[in-house]
Amino acid sequence: MSKVIISVNNLVKSYGSFEAVKNISFDVMEGEIFGLLGPNGAGKSTTLEIIETLREKTSGTIIVDGLDLDKNPNDIKKIIGVQLQTSGYYPNLKLTELIQLFSGLYNRTVDAMELLDSVNLRDKANSKVKELSGGQRQRFSIATTLINNPKIIFLDEPTTGLDPQARRNLWDLIKGLRQRGATVIITTHYMDEAEILCDRVAIMDSGKIISMASPDKLIDDLVATGFERPKQLKNASLEDVFIHLTGKEWRDD
Ligand code: ADP
Repeated sequence: MSKVIISVNNLVKSYGSFEAVKNISFDVMEGEIFGLLGPNGAGKSTTLEIIETLREKTSGTIIVDGLDLDKNPNDIKKIIGVQLQTSGYYPNLKLTELIQLFSGLYNRTVDAMELLDSVNLRDKANSKVKELSGGQRQRFSIATTLINNPKIIFLDEPTTGLDPQARRNLWDLIKGLRQRGATVIITTHYMDEAEILCDRVAIMDSGKIISMASPDKLIDDLVATGFERPKQLKNASLEDVFIHLTGKEWRDD
């Protein structure tokens, strides 16, 4: 039996008179990849940033690995890794220098080369962030979430804007985080990605969770209602054609 690592109960967030998160409750299990899906404005970032201790909630309770967000926010910060947008990084520092800077902030000692190795960026150790491709930047930003060896990793649209090869490469990296025993919470607008990566997803709309289960279960439930695709799918997709023609190897190195 896996254990609950994040428990959100009756979470509400209001911005003035507007309720962005409307009394939602959900659990995330230890070691799973949990997807938070939904259209823009659904309340995903607000929810995640509250759990990440970066935003104040209006009401509700949140327990992260046994720690109450209201009482122990600093202890929660120590066990989570939050992916920041790479545009916020100092563009003129080398990757190794940035890792030293971040590990100083976390009060940790890390082997920068080993960390870069884990995201396949050893060769770029002396490059600056501005010299990296989109896929490399995303991998680097994931590396920075690992500095404090977190139990829980939050990834916000980690593959947006990447080409199909780089996207697959990131999927392997994210699956690797789960293999190492971490719990991963991810937002994405790519449903194929959620289907492949996520053990469970919660679908949010207008501040509410409107469905939550494994992708398989959600699809089976929809099919059980008699739903059919308007056109029968072929055995391959255009993306399969693209990968078949251009190969699987990464192009961003
Ligand atoms: P998502 O991440 O699903 O796109 P958000 O959590 O960013 O959604 O936003 C949910 C809703 O709350 C949106 O309508 C957004 O405009 C609103 N919102 C987000 N942040 C603020 C804020 N700081 N002040 C006022 N409204 C906000």
